[in-house]
Amino acid sequence: QSTMQDDFPLTVSAILQHGAQVYPDSECVTWTGGGARRATFTQISDNAERLAAALTTLGVERGDRVGTFCWNNQEHLEAYYAVPGMGAVLHTLNIRLTPEQVVHIVGHAEDRVVIVDGTLVGLLAPIAAELKTVETFVVIGDADTVALGAGGAKVVRYDEIVAAEQPGFVWPVLDERAAASMCYTSGTTGEPKGVVYSHRSTYLHALGTLAAGVTGFTERDRILTFVPMFHVNAWGIPFGAFLCGATLHFPGPHMTPEPICEFIRTERSTLASAVPTIWGGILQYATAKGGDVDLSSLRMGTSGGAAMPQAMMEALEQRFGVRVIQGWGMTETSPVGGMAHPPADVELGSPDEITYRTKSGRIIAGMQLRIVDDAGDPLPHDGLAVGEMEVRGPWITGSYYRADVPEKFHDGWLRTGDIGTVDRRGFFQITDRSKDVIKSGGEWISSVELENLLAAAPGVVEVAVIGIPDEKWTERPLACVVRAADADVDEAALAAFLEGKVAAWQVPENWVFIDEVPKTTVGKFDKKVLRAQYADGDLQ
Ligand code: ADP
Repeated sequence: QSTMQDDFPLTVSAILQHGAQVYPDSECVTWTGGGARRATFTQISDNAERLAAALTTLGVERGDRVGTFCWNNQEHLEAYYAVPGMGAVLHTLNIRLTPEQVVHIVGHAEDRVVIVDGTLVGLLAPIAAELKTVETFVVIGDADTVALGAGGAKVVRYDEIVAAEQPGFVWPVLDERAAASMCYTSGTTGEPKGVVYSHRSTYLHALGTLAAGVTGFTERDRILTFVPMFHVNAWGIPFGAFLCGATLHFPGPHMTPEPICEFIRTERSTLASAVPTIWGGILQYATAKGGDVDLSSLRMGTSGGAAMPQAMMEALEQRFGVRVIQGWGMTETSPVGGMAHPPADVELGSPDEITYRTKSGRIIAGMQLRIVDDAGDPLPHDGLAVGEMEVRGPWITGSYYRADVPEKFHDGWLRTGDIGTVDRRGFFQITDRSKDVIKSGGEWISSVELENLLAAAPGVVEVAVIGIPDEKWTERPLACVVRAADADVDEAALAAFLEGKVAAWQVPENWVFIDEVPKTTVGKFDKKVLRAQYADGDLQ
């Protein structure tokens, strides 16, 4: 037996208390458009206590689900701590899901209370009456609330219920294995499925992300968090910040490049975390604005959720000095499971370095990863063998909420649906999602590799590659290209651009030029839509 106090529970309230005690002056800064709203960690902690008391008054009990329908802002952070802290379960609702999906997952999770951002009342009001389990809506700000109550639910204002309580709520002692929060997958490859995080998984994941070889966040950092708090726990940043004292920068609804760049310039953010689509927007805007944009305060950018093309990574670094490190994760993995910092024997600034940074990640401590073949047998980690990635660990889900999905699990491992390679030092590279793979004449063509290469071609803004049916080869790649406004690059030029970079048989002979690549609710390429559009082989 160990002599350690192993029964000390790793809980969300312990994270909050640590932040408030050790880093009382660190801040949560919410951008308002023209300026910023600030609250110290002490104030966040006081408000979380008040909110927990207010939710108790509203009848919320242990294990009850409390939904949030919010942007990244101060109140959302307070809910991140108050709801799990009191023993209830925080259910972050993705504000970009379809109304039908929101109705479905609120009902599936049986949310009793939903905290809704004033700016988003208009989105929720039309379906409020269909959210049958919801007894109370808590509205942030002074939005018109009448329509929300149409179905008979009570509507109260966040500021009022919080102001009516005093700090001093006593956080209950909870079982660290109890549910703390939940999130549904964004449905890129199927219907949303619920994942429930425990206090323990939340705590360990937050610690895991702070390692120097992962994010290395410290009290000196000011982290601009674009990754939404309404999906995948904003990569755990709200929790990690309270463990290390980093100041949080939240954009609120101001998610377009202009206010983002203004926020960075004014508040001197040292880090920014976003999906490649947001980084691409910043890059285009900042390039157009030239010297007017100052991103020099950023010591690092992190990108994840989808592959960032090498050309984008290079442009961000060469033009604006933003060094991007790529990470990998899923809703099911809390989400962080990989971070692609180059290894120690690769010189910083050398060409090899970018090769490593465009990998999907390097396995982080706390998670195990392997690749398996079609029969489920493990493949070598030699950087060459291609198989499905499987992961396991204390912050990886072992099932889905009230859903039996046996095909997602294999001998205690989560099947990620990501296909790729792993090398002997744990760097992994995703070549495709299993639903996106292109198998041409029995051989795989990596859509991710083609996208990455084509993104560097002159005149190309975005490109998504999908497989379309082909009589001879079963499937062939189709490149869907978005051209820059003034560019006249054509398919012959793009095919020539690929020559020598990939095997000749991998070069697409099918091309379409489109205005925009359709995106999912969290800004990823929505290949389902493209596949449906071109399924019949009609490329007009
Ligand atoms: P959904 O599964 O609905 O898209 P998630 O946000 O959980 O929602 O997405 C997880 C998936 O995102 C991973 O399985 C992987 O395919 C993709 N992904 C995440 N990070 C990266 C990355 N750095 N490079 C390529 N793909 C990534």
